[in-house]
Amino acid sequence: MTSTDSAQPLWQQQLDFDQQHIWHPYTSMTHPLPCYHVKSAAGVSIELSSGEYLIDGMSSWWAAIHGYNHPRLNAAAHQQIDKVAHVMFGGLTHEPAVTLAQQLVELTPGPLNRVFIADSGSVSVEVAIKMALQYWVGHELPQKNQLLTVRGGYHGDTFAAMSVCDPVNGMHHLFKHALCNQRFVERPALSYWDDWRDDAVDSLRDAFEQHHTQLAAVIIEPVVQGAGGMRMYHPNYLRELRRLCDAYGVLLICDEIATGFGRSGKLFASEHADVCPDIMCLGKALTGGYMTLAAAVTTTEVAEGVSSENAGGALMHGPTFMGNPLACAVATESLRLVAENHWPAQVAAIEAQLKTQLLPLAQHQKVADVRVLGAIGVVEMRQPINVAEAQQLFIAHGVWIRPFGKLLYIMPPYIIEPEQLTQLTTAISAYVHG
Ligand SMILES: *Cc1c(COP(=O)(O)O)cnc(C)c1O
Repeated sequence: MTSTDSAQPLWQQQLDFDQQHIWHPYTSMTHPLPCYHVKSAAGVSIELSSGEYLIDGMSSWWAAIHGYNHPRLNAAAHQQIDKVAHVMFGGLTHEPAVTLAQQLVELTPGPLNRVFIADSGSVSVEVAIKMALQYWVGHELPQKNQLLTVRGGYHGDTFAAMSVCDPVNGMHHLFKHALCNQRFVERPALSYWDDWRDDAVDSLRDAFEQHHTQLAAVIIEPVVQGAGGMRMYHPNYLRELRRLCDAYGVLLICDEIATGFGRSGKLFASEHADVCPDIMCLGKALTGGYMTLAAAVTTTEVAEGVSSENAGGALMHGPTFMGNPLACAVATESLRLVAENHWPAQVAAIEAQLKTQLLPLAQHQKVADVRVLGAIGVVEMRQPINVAEAQQLFIAHGVWIRPFGKLLYIMPPYIIEPEQLTQLTTAISAYVHG
């Protein structure tokens, strides 16, 4: 005999199992944060198994720019899976990978025309770093093997990527003895909206002067530092950085994994500074948030250096699921949507509305700063936010927003309607005033 009052719905049982057995991003296995069980998602709405519908403010970490359950992305996945879901990329190629590479060559600045298709953002950063190191080995300058970066950055969770994340909030102390020793300068001091001052690059220039003989590359998130603190810095900093890289013979890697495909109001955030990097990393929104896929795109010059006899003749990387046809097929359809160019108006409308609705919160005594760039809105509190508590309030308001540290931030799917965006900003305002 089954007792009806002890029988929980399946999703509830799954939540219990999840709590005990499954790691979530950056969480404790023994004291996990609460978790919510998702039944489905469509457009900008996430349906929980407990019955609530939530307006999505996160785009699943910058990725779901066209919204969930998109008919064209679904069709692309269905059509490809009936042809071939995966084949090894060693010695084989296929239409989805070739089309994707053609699109990436087309969309990225002119000199970027050699494409490495990787399986996650962190891996594309590893590959970009390998490219830079092998490039200098190819030029018989193997001592150029260090990376320079700014504090406050985030480039992923694998080891080389971690070595260029912010040394404080990137948890360097936990892995101190296992991390490559890279070089850091202070994070860019001037915000996107400050008046430019030439002394803002003094410490950067010093670092180049002193260390350029050991520097293989600079890696940086162009204009928007994401997971390291959601800060937007002055585009002239990036412009000067490009100039210094050219002057001293150092490669520039722009990590556009978060910012790529329109999020900051430009197709790529490096366009705010009219800069073309030597290597560009892409990921997150590449498949419209459907599955994991990334790319490191570089120039003929870098590709030739990496492929030279001295450098061993080959780029030394080749993941099992490289160029996965299913992921590439969805990415090609997502990039077709991007190329149809509805995003500039959508992102501009989101930016204007976020400015109207969020900037006034800067007056509140609990708020340290509010900043909006493109379809990114950030409210920085003075005190750390209790995530579990804040999340309960947000769910009561029918929205999905996941704060971290002192930051409340949203980057909704580009297709969000004004009323839906108002629901997000209303919930943020309620948190601030609560
Ligand atoms: C998310 C992110 C990464 C890492 O990508 P994963 O797909 O999570 O490995 C790297 N760089 C930046 C700027 C990111 O936002």
